[in-house]
Amino acid sequence: MIQCKSKGVILILSGPSGAGKSSLCKILADTFPNHYFSISSTTREIREGEVCGVDYNFVTKEQFEKDIKEDKFLEWAMVHNNYYGTSKIQILNALEQDKLVICDIDVQGQINIKKAFPNHTTSVFITTPNKEILKTRILNRGNIKSDVLQNRLDNASLELQKIPNFDYLLINDILDETAKRLISIANSAFCKVSLYDFQLLNTKWNN
Ligand code: 5GP
Repeated sequence: MIQCKSKGVILILSGPSGAGKSSLCKILADTFPNHYFSISSTTREIREGEVCGVDYNFVTKEQFEKDIKEDKFLEWAMVHNNYYGTSKIQILNALEQDKLVICDIDVQGQINIKKAFPNHTTSVFITTPNKEILKTRILNRGNIKSDVLQNRLDNASLELQKIPNFDYLLINDILDETAKRLISIANSAFCKVSLYDFQLLNTKWNN
């Protein structure tokens, strides 16, 4: 377990691709100026409109495996047949600066980050009201092969099994409503008792 006495918090957003996590992350980032959005590394192909270093650090399989060996990831996982990983150093720096650290990661990553930072992590599972809506949203993104679509839908059903591991569940029907709830969760995350050092709190109280 990593010892950390700062009051930065990690907010994990997980859920099926197409549930609206990226839009919600943008709203969170606009609402909390003192945030750090974790830019993951991945070996998946870059999509149209994506920018390396902004959406992801797109790297080769060889580079990713080298980074694993060099212990550069806080967590990493194989998702949809590609590697994805969260860089360690940036998260530690952001926590030191008391930031809201936003991580858009899968359900495997949520387990591992929660293990590493049990006191600082709040996790939210985001999904659509049903599978059909998820399918429509993925299709609306355009340019998706049918086998990739099927893989994502199958993966979504597996991810839903992991909901009990999370602190919160948001069913993203209307984006604005979901965003309001998510902002409340992020504000509450900064008030968790587990963030405080009680010895320090007692000393301050008595002086
Ligand atoms: P996409 O390729 O659609 O951007 O993301 C696919 C999945 O990978 C999403 O569920 C996303 O949350 C997850 N993901 C993105 N970055 C990471 C990461 O660093 N670690 C883990 N475990 N999952 C990630």
